[in-house]
Amino acid sequence: MSKTMPNKLHAFIDLDGTMFHGSQAIDGADRLIECLQEWKVPYLFVTNNSTRTPQQIAALMEKMGIQARTEDVLTSAQAAAMFIRDHYKDPFVFMIGEEGLQQALSDCNIRWTSDPSIAEQKQIDVVVQGLDRQFTYNKLEVASIAIRKGAASIVTNPDVQLPSDKGISPGAGTIAAAIQAASGVEPVCIGKPEAIIMQVALKQLECTASEAIVVGDNLLTDIQAGIRAKCLTALVLTGVTSKSSYASYRENSNDLPDYVFDNLEQVRLLFEQNYENNDTERALE
Ligand SMILES: [Mg+2]
Repeated sequence: MSKTMPNKLHAFIDLDGTMFHGSQAIDGADRLIECLQEWKVPYLFVTNNSTRTPQQIAALMEKMGIQARTEDVLTSAQAAAMFIRDHYKDPFVFMIGEEGLQQALSDCNIRWTSDPSIAEQKQIDVVVQGLDRQFTYNKLEVASIAIRKGAASIVTNPDVQLPSDKGISPGAGTIAAAIQAASGVEPVCIGKPEAIIMQVALKQLECTASEAIVVGDNLLTDIQAGIRAKCLTALVLTGVTSKSSYASYRENSNDLPDYVFDNLEQVRLLFEQNYENNDTERALE
C-alpha cells in the first residue's frame, strides 16, 4: 500500500455496479451501509447520474433495502450546480438536461431556462448540459452559438455510452461531443473521472483528500477521479471490472487503486479495521 491509512476514513461510494445493478442491490451493500452508520463513518454516494434527483435515488435505494437519505447522495448535476454557483456571479444559465439538473440549479438559486427560444433572447453566461432525452437541433444551435459568443460550457459527466434495456444508448458525453463539435470549445467536465465532483464531495464532508477513500467498480471513472483528487481508492470487482480485465489493465497502467476487493464484505472489513484502530487510539488517549 502506497499511502498511509488516516485515523478516520471518509467514504465516497459509487452507485451503479457498486451498490446495485439496475434495480437489484449488490450482495453486502445493505450491511456495508449499516456498519458505516454504526461506526459513524462519514460517507456520500457519489454518482455521475445527472437525470435523477437525490430524492429519487435515495427512494430507489430504500426500495432495494439499502439505507439512503437524500443528503447522502451527490450527483454530477448537484456538483455542476455548486460549481456554477461558486465560480460565476449571478449567471444566467441555459440548461440542457433533465429533472436532476433542473432541481440542482434551482436548489442553488441559479437563474436558468431550458427553453431555447427564451435562451436565445437573453445573454447566456453558462451552458450546462447533462443527459437530455429531449435533446433537439434547436438546443444544440442555441448552446453552440452562446458558447461561441463567450458563454462557459460545462458538462455534468462525460459518459458517452449508457447501458440500457435496449443495448448501449447515447450518454451525456455524446451530446457534449455534438456541442463541442459545433462550438469548437471543449467543456469543463464535472463528473468522474474529473476531480471536480470529488472536490465538491470533500467540501461537503469537510475532510481532506488523504482522509477520503473512493470506492467504485470502474477504473476509468471512479478510480481515476479518486487518483486525480488525491484520495485513497478502492476498486470493487462487483460491476464493470472483472478479475481478468483488472489483470490486463494493471500491466499497462500506472493509475492503480490502493485496494482491490472482490466484494463488498471485504470493503466492510477495511472500514471495520479502521474503526477498531480508531477505538484503540481512543482508549490509549
Ligand atoms: Mg459504477
